[in-house]
Order: sequence, then C-alpha cells, then structure tokens
Amino acid sequence: MSTFRGRFAPSPTGRMHLGNLRSALLGWLQARAANGRFLLRIEDLDRARCKPQYVDDLMQDLRWLGLDWDETPLIQSQRDDLYREALATLEQQGLVYPCFCTRAEIARAASAPHGLSEEGPRYPGTCAHLTSAQLSERAKTRAPAIRFRARPGEVHFIDALMGPYAQDVDAVVGDFVVRRNDGVASYQLAVVADDAATGITHVLRGDDLLSSTPRQLQLYDALAKRAPDFLHVPLVHGEDGKRLAKREGAFALAELRERGVAPERVLGLLAAWSGLGDGTPRTLDELLRAFSIEALPRSPVVAREAVLIEAVGLR
Ligand code: GLU
Repeated sequence: MSTFRGRFAPSPTGRMHLGNLRSALLGWLQARAANGRFLLRIEDLDRARCKPQYVDDLMQDLRWLGLDWDETPLIQSQRDDLYREALATLEQQGLVYPCFCTRAEIARAASAPHGLSEEGPRYPGTCAHLTSAQLSERAKTRAPAIRFRARPGEVHFIDALMGPYAQDVDAVVGDFVVRRNDGVASYQLAVVADDAATGITHVLRGDDLLSSTPRQLQLYDALAKRAPDFLHVPLVHGEDGKRLAKREGAFALAELRERGVAPERVLGLLAAWSGLGDGTPRTLDELLRAFSIEALPRSPVVAREAVLIEAVGLR
C-alpha cells in the first residue's frame, strides 16, 4: 500500500478556469501514478471572497473531468480549532506576537498570495518588541493580529520540478501574519496545519506559491511536523502575459461544459499544457500512462485563444 498522500486545495472565489484545473489534474495524476491518495480541501477562510456556489461548481468540474478524491473534503472554515491549537504551540515557544498595525497585508492574509509582488513591502517589525505597557495600551483600541517571528537566514529546499530554491524569509517578508485581527487563521498557518494534520506527503501547486513555501517550512519546523515534498508548476498565462484569473470566462470550465464540449477534449488541451500530448483528445487513463514529472514545462505556458478554440472544438 502506497503512503503517498496528495491534495488539491482550491479557494472557492470564482469559477475554476483551465489553469486551476491543470493543477488539479497534475496533482491527481501524480497521486494516482504513485497509487496514492488524493484529497480535496476547500480553502474558504477569506469569507468575503468565497461563495458556497463555487464549491459546488468546482466539485462538478472535477467530477466531470473524472478527477475523484478520497475521504470527505475538508472545509477550512470549519477547522478553526486545529488552527488555534497550532497557534498555541507557537505561542508556548514565544514565536509569535500581537501586532496592532493596520496594513492591507493583514486583511489579505487569509488568502494565498499569488507571488511576492502581491504582498507589499517587508514588515518592518513595528510591533515586534512592544513593552507590556504599550501592549495593554494598544489593546484598548483594537484587537491585534498575530505574527510569527521569521527566523533569520536562508531557508533551502529542493522543488521536485524547479530544483533548489532559497529565500531569507526575515529579509524578504519579515515577520508574517498567522492570524488576522478578526481571529481568522492566515493562509500560511492553515495550509501547514491542514497538510500536517492530514499527513500530506506531496504538495503540487502553482509556482505563484513558490515564494510562500519557505514561510511554510519555518512553520513546519516550529510545529515539529514533517514537511511534504513540494512541486511547483509554472502557471498558465493568457496572451497578455498575465496568469489566468477566475474572472476570465473564456477559460472557465463550466462554460465549456455548458457548451457540450467533451471532457477528453479538455483533457487533451490540459495535457498539451503539461508536456503530455499534442492537444488532441486524451482519456485520463492515457494521461496516467503518459505522466512524468520530467515532461512538465519549466516556464509559463501561454493559453492562446485560437488554440483553445481549436482544441475544444469551438468555432
Ligand atoms: N488555496 C490556494 C489557492 O487557491 C492554494 C493553496 C495551496 O495549494 O497551498 O491559491
């Protein structure tokens, strides 16, 4: 029996597009090729941006493509006890502190950051060394967020596709948010607590999260949990050079489903974006036989509208 456990962890903030589904497909192929288990986790901590309708939609998308999952899907908004426990473990070691700053970055912390450029400047440590008098004074006016004290020095890891990666979290990001001031766990904390609690051995996701991995490795370390292997795939970009976003209707799978496009045509296109085919229709079984990490592209794939239209048979 294989011990491989992979997962797909979408945020239900919109209809999934073909770029999201390519990550789901690759995660599924990696897990199934290893005879492993594949879990689904709904990352809905950012209540303002997530909608239950999108959870139903994304499950339908996955089923329609034949991407099944094992075990009951986890819903992050129902797992706050786990995140509080993780936070308490960090607190006991003095690795976190309350932060009263009002930066936009705190509000955004419940969502995964799509690359460092979206994250704003390094946190300068404004609240890192408040005296207890200052702490009680500030606590009178507002509830604090909680930050993890980034450890200095480079964090190194070897990505299964991209190779060696290093980042000095303290120098680049600074102390980072693990809980927002409304009590919601941050993406960085929740993803680690959940992957550790569910015994995930392999994380495959878009390379917009590559720069989050060193933070997550610091949390694994602090929580004394074993980190999974990571594989970050270059994203699918539109012809404008920007990564596909959920608002882009043309690439929403639900749209293609409604138009009566066959799943094999979509799989054929996703396979072509993954070095596994020429764009002609494919079945999941064929892709499972063809799957190899070496075949995956190491630079962003461009989704050309003309190719999409041809591949999925739209006119
Ligand atoms: N929920 C995150 C996103 O949709 C992905 C989290 C992860 O795979 O670590 O961007």
